[in-house]
Amino acid sequence: MGGGCPKCHVGSIHTSHITFCGILWAILLFPIGLLCLLCCTTKRCTNCSYTD
Ligand SMILES: [Zn+2]
Repeated sequence: MGGGCPKCHVGSIHTSHITFCGILWAILLFPIGLLCLLCCTTKRCTNCSYTD
């Protein structure tokens, strides 16, 4: 049983949550920034930084 990563099979996939920086961009570039913020919530591998 490895990690859930389809690329390296070592790391595990974690859903990257909205960061402070993301919120800042959302405010500065409203309403486009808000869309970017939603798009930024991607799944990322903890080992190889693979994004889903
Ligand atoms: Zn990986």
